Amino acid sequence: MTAPAARLLIVGPQGSGKGTQGARVAEALGVPAISTGDMFRAAIAGKTPLGLEVQAIIEAGDLVPDELTSAVVRERLSETDAAAGFLLDGYPRNLGQVSDFDAFLTDRGEKLTSVIELSVPRDESIERLTLRAQQQGRTDDTEDVIANRLRIYERETAPILDVYRERGIVDTIDGVGTLDGITARVVSALQARGLSAEAVR
Ligand code: ADP
Repeated sequence: MTAPAARLLIVGPQGSGKGTQGARVAEALGVPAISTGDMFRAAIAGKTPLGLEVQAIIEAGDLVPDELTSAVVRERLSETDAAAGFLLDGYPRNLGQVSDFDAFLTDRGEKLTSVIELSVPRDESIERLTLRAQQQGRTDDTEDVIANRLRIYERETAPILDVYRERGIVDTIDGVGTLDGITARVVSALQARGLSAEAVR
């Protein structure tokens, strides 16, 4: 019996560690980790037309328009490495993007395997963000912009979890602990969804 393809989303507030855990889990499963934030930052660094269009929006901590974001994701998921599965970090991020994404998956005859919710108390995530701001100097990690991104998360992103919860595909993972410990929790939740032990190395 072949294991089902791993088509995963990772969702969590800023500072939850979703980028780090997303990359680790994707690696364990042998699927590409696709982060919309990373794609936008690469476009900005490369001064591409997309980068120029989104730079001011990202520096303010606002959301890039759905139409543009969904087009970027569709294009990326159409590359061959994503045919057998993927882990998306940072998309969908609001209800509009959930419907764009549903339409895309329906067209391809695909279904999501799991939506991994990384749960971290507010104090802990703010502490991590402050540390990251000192270490990485991301232009959207200033105090005002962080507050804006967290507000948008609560207002627009948290509700998408309710939609996926109704579909019975959300795995809520405690995001506090060691890096390895958290990855192990995600992996065992995915095993419970039928992803094989071989696929989950
Ligand atoms: P964080 O989760 O810490 O905010 P990300 O790297 O996921 O970091 O995103 C950085 C920024 O990129 C967001 O604040 C937003 O401006 C933009 N962005 C990323 N993903 C999306 C998306 N799905 N829709 C709209 N904007 C997005």
